[in-house]
Amino acid sequence: MIKFWKKRLQNPISTKNLEFNDELKEIKKELKSVIAKRFAGSLAIRMVSSGSCNACEAECNALSNPYYDLERLGIHFVASPRHADAMLLSGVVSINMYHHVLDAYHQMPQPAHIITLGDCPLLEGTFKQNFAIKGAKSLNLPISHHIQGCPPEPKEIIKGLLEFIKNPKDF
Ligand code: SF4
Repeated sequence: MIKFWKKRLQNPISTKNLEFNDELKEIKKELKSVIAKRFAGSLAIRMVSSGSCNACEAECNALSNPYYDLERLGIHFVASPRHADAMLLSGVVSINMYHHVLDAYHQMPQPAHIITLGDCPLLEGTFKQNFAIKGAKSLNLPISHHIQGCPPEPKEIIKGLLEFIKNPKDF
């Protein structure tokens, strides 16, 4: 124990990366200001996994930790699609999840947005064509933004959310 505390006192901040902190600070500042303008200060997101490996969800979990702290910017992950402005859709949209994703979308207040997360929904990632996979495009719903990566790291997700709010587009 004494050895541990000695080491901690000698190297108090071993993960500090000033460059990364500054970039993240700027992104978060801009994100907070655009959420205030476009969503009256509060953007509610319903996360839907449509057959993912769970790594995308693990990266999203990190967004709530004290370092990224998205709640402070006005972004909330909600438990019901009825409370959501946007759906963050991960996974390949498997046959079994297809109707559940559609159901969740139709319960969202309109206009609802879909943001696809990771390479899976657009079938660009690890799990490509398979008899049990349909992909997000088969839903025939407007996709407002896509966040690439397998999985995208938290900073990329935050950047993606900023791009979505600044310039939502259907494709
Ligand atoms: S995009 Fe990659 S990390 Fe995300 S669910 Fe698919 S395989 Fe997993």
